[in-house]
Amino acid sequence: MDAIDVIRAKRDGARLTDEQIDWFMDAYTAGRIPDYQASALLMAIVWRGMEPDELARWTQAMIDSGERMDLSSVTVPTADKHSTGGVGDKVSLILAPLVAACGVADPMLSGRGLGHTGGTLDKLEAIPGFRVDLSSKEFVDVLRDVGCAICSAGPNLAPADRKLYALRDVTGTVESIPLIASSIVSKKFAEGTDVLVLDVKVGSGAFLPDLDVARRLAETMVGLGNAHGVRTIALLTDMQVPLGRTAGNALEVTECVEAMRGKGPDDLVALTLELAGEMLGAVGSDADPRGALEDGSALERWERMVRAQGGDPDAALPEASERLTVDAPSSGYLATLDARAVGVAAWRLGAGRARKEDPIEHAAGVVCLAKPGDRVEEGQPVLELHADEPTRFDEALEALRGGWSIGDEPPEPRPLVIDRIA
Ligand code: URA
Repeated sequence: MDAIDVIRAKRDGARLTDEQIDWFMDAYTAGRIPDYQASALLMAIVWRGMEPDELARWTQAMIDSGERMDLSSVTVPTADKHSTGGVGDKVSLILAPLVAACGVADPMLSGRGLGHTGGTLDKLEAIPGFRVDLSSKEFVDVLRDVGCAICSAGPNLAPADRKLYALRDVTGTVESIPLIASSIVSKKFAEGTDVLVLDVKVGSGAFLPDLDVARRLAETMVGLGNAHGVRTIALLTDMQVPLGRTAGNALEVTECVEAMRGKGPDDLVALTLELAGEMLGAVGSDADPRGALEDGSALERWERMVRAQGGDPDAALPEASERLTVDAPSSGYLATLDARAVGVAAWRLGAGRARKEDPIEHAAGVVCLAKPGDRVEEGQPVLELHADEPTRFDEALEALRGGWSIGDEPPEPRPLVIDRIA
């Protein structure tokens, strides 16, 4: 087989054969195909797309490039959730212990934040001592003992995706539905979950803001789930407004613990319960997630998971040394609060990174003291910026300019769940 023939075939719009796909993935992962040839193939896929069965084979080859987690020692059903990422999207931290408290194990392999969207691993690392680098054995042990574990994917899990994603990042080939879909689900299917619920975000704070594009991605991933025998359901959910009241790592952990104590903001609690209901329903469980959130059993699982992963659930979280409030210039109702503006502000305050290797400041971020629909009076603080370095405030304020507005009437409430694809 020859890389040039594979590139030419896709360039000319052909469906790649199973043999071509398997050969390419194996040879690229092993370093026998150079990045320049892989880039050419990726660009051809961006332009030509992939047939559903071709994409299923491509995804299988990505999974087969590494090891699959062996969850056979976990005796209860497994279900996991993946979000395409957003601002203030901290659902995973509540959801994993919540479904565990309902008798379903969540083997959650997560990622870090990049740009204006946060990452679950960064949030968890705000907890003193918390380890996200568990070995496969440690991960399965925690999962079996506690019912949930959240850690980073090891280098042997879908290594083809790791290489391809890094290459796509620098060759303008990220924006392709088949490449995004296969990249996301290959890691999740290699993790070995029985059920996968996808939270595909739509709106300014989302990776793919446009509803039609997000819907096509959701349909493609659900199709891949069916092809791979993993029950997969996608919810399209609103990311025009930040989820909950905080964006920033330690701030979000505190908000999640409050939610598990029964004091969470309505949108965060509603979305978490919606996703939990999908996960439980898909494994045939009739457990009551609201009950598990309200009676403290999700909090108890959270504390066990934090301890099992080396953290101290009672430890004080980092707090920023500097705060600045942004006040309402007039009285009225908060009409808009743009998720991307808040995400970029949090990032500029130190909560996010521009490159994978950049450090982050766990205490930095934004607290939304009001959300759209809330009444605000002139001079009332609407946003609170947290940073360790006061020189960061100006750039954050710049990001927020035009990102929120006050009106005379409350805005129409936005539906949190826009659609369900199964
Ligand atoms: N997240 C992934 O894991 N892969 C993509 O291609 C895009 C987002």
